[in-house]
Amino acid sequence: MKTDILSLTPEELQDEITVTGGQKFRAEQIFNWLHVKKTTNFSEMSNLSEQFRQKLTAYFCIKPLIIRKKLVSEYDYTVKYLYGLNDGENIETVLMKYRHGASLCISTQAGCKMNCAFCASGAYGFKRNLKPSEMLGQLYETERDSGIDVKSIVLMGIGEPLDNFGNTVKFLRLLSDKSGRNMSLRHVSLSTCGLSDRIDELAKLKLGLTLSVSLHAADDKTRSRLMPVNDVFNIDRLMASCRNYFKETGRRISFEYALIKGLNDSFEAADRLVKLIKPLGAHVNLITVNPTLKNTHHASGNAKVFYERLTSSGINATIRRTLGADINAACGQLRGQEN
Ligand code: SAH
Repeated sequence: MKTDILSLTPEELQDEITVTGGQKFRAEQIFNWLHVKKTTNFSEMSNLSEQFRQKLTAYFCIKPLIIRKKLVSEYDYTVKYLYGLNDGENIETVLMKYRHGASLCISTQAGCKMNCAFCASGAYGFKRNLKPSEMLGQLYETERDSGIDVKSIVLMGIGEPLDNFGNTVKFLRLLSDKSGRNMSLRHVSLSTCGLSDRIDELAKLKLGLTLSVSLHAADDKTRSRLMPVNDVFNIDRLMASCRNYFKETGRRISFEYALIKGLNDSFEAADRLVKLIKPLGAHVNLITVNPTLKNTHHASGNAKVFYERLTSSGINATIRRTLGADINAACGQLRGQEN
């Protein structure tokens, strides 16, 4: 089987190139073609000899993502891509344009195992982990197609990034490599449903990214109803990992909280949330739950009062702007329609 060249670090690429008989400095040139010029074809690597390019084609593969669908929101120019992978799987990527620059929401798995009650991603089961090249491919293909230079990335698309730990960390290292795309990890947010053991592992790596934790409820009973992962890592255990992450990295955590009518949107729920996260100095991102096919949960009308309850108690909070509502930009919805 040919080696997936876009997933290789510069060091790995050097080792592989010497095996094919190439000189080491060639690896730097190839890395530049792949990660700076975003070339998807060896034949375009014009500073390499024809013979060497043929050798590369025999040893390596570059598997570009295929745009299967592209939806542009009429409201706010949010663009949602349905990308086809080379084994026929589909994933979603969303390009959001803000005044301070474009942000890209990328997927880390085809499907998801976590089965959160309100989320469309898990409804069609888990297929497989994405390779680093397939995460980078979402960025490179979107930049190529849109002509936009993406300023920040959120790992908030389909999948649980910490359930695909090794590939996600390798993707982050490639993304931030000085000789490649060179994106500072200060501009990256990783969102997790709360795999505490992996949060502990991530803290040790001190990557400098922002960790977003999907909390959605500040008591175990409600959270377990919404998120089965809470039966494995309950709120106490999760908070211990969040405290440790903050201590190890100095980076404040951001909590995602989707407001659901009658379930987690009362004053009592807000007060429980304040008590839980105040010691962490964390930020809360309030989301109104998006309707999905399997979703029996309804958006809360209390976002403003819930927000005010938090901020008047000294919690730093924002209400997330809904983007791309007309193009089903909430996770997993487009992929779902294709299955
Ligand atoms: N698995 C990761 C990242 C993917 S989900 C995680 O759980 O964080 C990205 C965010 O969207 C999470 O906060 C998730 O809880 C939220 N989300 C999923 N479905 C939603 C829906 N229907 N409405 C609002 N938020 C949703």
